[in-house]
Amino acid sequence: MLGAGLAGLAAATQLARAGHDVTIFEARDRVGGRVWSETITAAGGYHVIERGAEFVLDGYSTLRSYCEEHRLELVETGMSYYVRTPADRPEVTTAAMAALGRAAAEAAADGPDERSVADVLDAIGVEGPTREALEARIEMSTAVRIDQVTAAETLEHVASFEPQPSWRIGGGNQSLPDAMAVALDGRVRLSSRVDHVEQHGDRVRISVGHDDESFDFAVVALPFGVLADPASVRLEIPRWKRDAMSRVVQGNAAKLHLALDEAPATSAVMSVTGRFWTWTANALDVGVAPVLNCFGGEIGHLLDLRIDRGERDWERAVRALRADLPIAPGRAVLSAWPFDPLARGAYTAHSPRFTTADAEALAAPHGRLYFAGEYIDPEFTGLMEGALRSGDRAAAALLAAEGNVAA
Ligand SMILES: Cc1cc2nc3c(=O)[nH]c(=O)nc-3n(C[C@H](O)[C@H](O)[C@H](O)COP(=O)(O)OP(=O)(O)OC[C@H]3O[C@@H](n4cnc5c(N)ncnc54)[C@H](O)[C@@H]3O)c2cc1C
Repeated sequence: MLGAGLAGLAAATQLARAGHDVTIFEARDRVGGRVWSETITAAGGYHVIERGAEFVLDGYSTLRSYCEEHRLELVETGMSYYVRTPADRPEVTTAAMAALGRAAAEAAADGPDERSVADVLDAIGVEGPTREALEARIEMSTAVRIDQVTAAETLEHVASFEPQPSWRIGGGNQSLPDAMAVALDGRVRLSSRVDHVEQHGDRVRISVGHDDESFDFAVVALPFGVLADPASVRLEIPRWKRDAMSRVVQGNAAKLHLALDEAPATSAVMSVTGRFWTWTANALDVGVAPVLNCFGGEIGHLLDLRIDRGERDWERAVRALRADLPIAPGRAVLSAWPFDPLARGAYTAHSPRFTTADAEALAAPHGRLYFAGEYIDPEFTGLMEGALRSGDRAAAALLAAEGNVAA
């Protein structure tokens, strides 16, 4: 198994449960990958921050069942991930933006598949500040430009406008991968970065530095950005899979966490100009946590915020947007995923030309290599739920095809 993110851990859990001998190679010194919880000191105490994935959204049945299995509680955030106030465009109401978003979602669901979000917005004839706010809202969720992503899928999930509740795992989302790794009982090898994967006859050789080991099969649960970059890992990918991969779009996002001197009310406020949003939310046992969470998406906008130079410019923009909050000095935590060599971006989306056959090709094995990762799940692409589902599915495919194995 390559990668101890949610996809790799789910696949390993299912294979181990079926009685198989599993070894998981993880390059980082922790499990969880793009699920990464830490703490920040704010209002005199430690508070959990999610440096990667945060929101548990509607329909996360697989994540919920893994949480139940490990006795982890979900805490409702008290705000909706889907509803954000465009504070720097006072002429655009949250309701008007959401109504337009819903109209776009309906138009996307009705029309032909090969349309981008930009095509659909053009077709429904939206212009002016409301369109600008809507574009900002969508791009900061998909983490790619609106002309690069498929409309139907995007407007149904990541950038939906329905005012549904959202949750986080109490004590930090990291509790889930940590619990899954504990249950795997010593099978995860941390700080083991795989350099090379090679199929030889009926064996798969995995190289970590100067050490080689052979297995019956391998589940490749690496981030899309890593898999797509031959300089990151040497692994033969057949042309039919590469072709499908060419219609996956890599999204880029970053997060900024700022400590507050007092606990605020819950909120969700976005900057149309800066293309980022900010929120305050409930946490386990403390009510609303004294932490301001910020998320920015799409690489061009992130570079406008100068995240390549650190948090300074972005923090300044956030302070201007959220002058209503008592932001403490000197405690900003920036998580810049585009520059993380073990993620190479935030999460993926599908281009308008992506097809059902592409989804099948992404999930299909190549010889003794099986594949898992958020980019593979056709419904919850880019999300924790998609990662877990892809891992469960890869394990099921391997078990169905091969019977008794070591992976
Ligand atoms: C900023 C941000 C915000 C997000 N917000 C949300 C959200 O609100 N809700 C939601 O559902 N999802 C969200 N996501 C997406 C979610 O984090 C991912 O979909 C999910 O965690 C991906 O899991 P994975 O197992 O596919 O990949 P990963 O978690 O990336 O796991 C892959 C693992 O492979 C390891 N690896 C890489 N290279 C090697 C190598 N050569 N050898 C060995 N190991 C290697 C990595 O270290 C990593 O641990 C967010 C992501 C980011 C970055």
